[in-house]
Amino acid sequence: MTALLEVTGLTKRYAGRREEVTACEDITFRVRRGDALALVGESGAGKSTVVRLVAGLEQPTAGRILLRGDPIDARPRGRTARLARAATVQIVHQDPYSCLDPRQTVGAGLAELLRLHARRLGPGAATRTRVADLLDTVGLPGLADARPARLSGGQRQRAAIARALAVEPDILLLDEAVAALDVSVQAQILNLLADLREHKGTTLVFVTHDLGVVRQLCQDTVVMRGGRVVEEGPVARVLTAPRHPYTRTLLDSVPRPGWHPRRTSGTAAAP
Ligand code: ADP
Repeated sequence: MTALLEVTGLTKRYAGRREEVTACEDITFRVRRGDALALVGESGAGKSTVVRLVAGLEQPTAGRILLRGDPIDARPRGRTARLARAATVQIVHQDPYSCLDPRQTVGAGLAELLRLHARRLGPGAATRTRVADLLDTVGLPGLADARPARLSGGQRQRAAIARALAVEPDILLLDEAVAALDVSVQAQILNLLADLREHKGTTLVFVTHDLGVVRQLCQDTVVMRGGRVVEEGPVARVLTAPRHPYTRTLLDSVPRPGWHPRRTSGTAAAP
């Protein structure tokens, strides 16, 4: 079966002040439709770069990204191509401020987005009810009339997630997108994502430090270090019987201050 997303030999180098920085090199992985993949590894491993490339926000130095077997349109021209691109891949960053227009209320921003994609989402997609539903879904009921400045960091994060969900993309890239949320809100959003995956076939790619999230939601994982893949495979195998010493270290360590491995019920046994 053709993978929904196929990344081959993906490499990105940046011109540094003195020398080039290789953010990621020769990254290869595939994700089937409706699966969830976790990109894990310490800070600076190149995970965000990979998802930015997949989102088409930057051009790779080398390698290719195929969506349903076709090269992604990295620089879509014209309104229709841009909308099609947005409908395929959405990304939610850790700091979502840039995707929220400070002059617009959260509800007006969502309505505008729904109108833009109305042809695909169906007639009547941009209703107040749909906006209210989306805000409810991410735990922001009644905040349609709020502007971003009035929201807390966690609320802005949820508003950004609502925007990504509104478009009903084929692939949702989440770059530490739930890490800063309160535990209960985080659980609500993770449940929602699991639901989307199961019922709508949305493909998820998580960049996360939280192995609880990986266990709970993901089928496959790619472990990165220093811009390269050190190990990949099914979560059940990689987290219980890691082959690479770095993966073992990662599983034993606390990669970032404030990070706590969380035990989630109903998941595979802890390594
Ligand atoms: P991660 O998401 O795993 O923390 P990143 O993809 O953010 O890693 O970064 C990988 C490496 O690439 C880091 O050394 C980072 O400093 C470098 N890097 C990322 N983006 C840029 C950029 N725009 N310009 C220069 N170097 C960058």
